Amino acid sequence: MLINMTELLSVAERFDFAVPAFNIGTGQLLKAVMDTCEALNAPVILAIHPEELKFQGDAFAAQCLYAAHHSRVPCVIHMDHGDKIEDMLKAIRLGFTSVMIDASHLPFEQNVAITKQVVALAHPLNISVEAELGTIGSTEGDMEKASGEIIYTDPGMAAEFVRLTDCDCLAIAIGTAHGIYPKGFVPELKLDLLSEIKGQVSVPLVLHGGSSNSDAEIAESIRRGVRKINISSDVKDAYYQELRLTLRDLVVREPFALYPASMQAAKRIIKEKIELFNAQDKIKHYKD
Ligand SMILES: [Zn+2]
Repeated sequence: MLINMTELLSVAERFDFAVPAFNIGTGQLLKAVMDTCEALNAPVILAIHPEELKFQGDAFAAQCLYAAHHSRVPCVIHMDHGDKIEDMLKAIRLGFTSVMIDASHLPFEQNVAITKQVVALAHPLNISVEAELGTIGSTEGDMEKASGEIIYTDPGMAAEFVRLTDCDCLAIAIGTAHGIYPKGFVPELKLDLLSEIKGQVSVPLVLHGGSSNSDAEIAESIRRGVRKINISSDVKDAYYQELRLTLRDLVVREPFALYPASMQAAKRIIKEKIELFNAQDKIKHYKD
């Protein structure tokens, strides 16, 4: 069941859970995500980064649309971290139901201006818009290549940003970083800041860089109002670690023999995240 982000997250807001946004850079991960969500009756966001789309080619969007249309799981097909209008137009043409415009590296006024432009393009087509204010940190191997520095989101500015842009959900910076954190780096979420932002901002809040934070912190962030959490590295790491073992131990060349074990490894992490986010058994709250 294909829906947009506004519909998806309004239910999460009402029933106090967060929907995972899994980056699916390949068809095997798409299948692992959909199979797990079906088994757990969990709604899902299929997140595709512009680099992932470039690698897969536009036909991948059709594969995701087919999967969504043929599933009873409420699905959003979402462009993750587009940073220019061309990315947005491409996602819109391909049938995505949600886009993220990330202009968080620009000054506030310019971030507002480009986000407003995207909202004007997307809303008449019933497509949702995620924006970002503040900057999420970056670690090695991160697709975003953002600066390593985290600029925390200011609650008052966040409220003003949402009012000016009419965006549908907002990614905030409260101390997470993209990627797997280096050894010895202890990420610390500013949970009080999250509560302050939640108190002032009317749209659902989004947490990026959710891999590697402690489960207790993530669960608490959901209790305090986070409704979408991006997960990429944790799933991909499990997938490729298992694939390395398969390639080391077996002489196989057929994809259908090569990938099932790594898809299983990915599914274990996908299941853990769904349960951590309290998103299991929630499809009953969505209308057909
Ligand atoms: Zn992100």
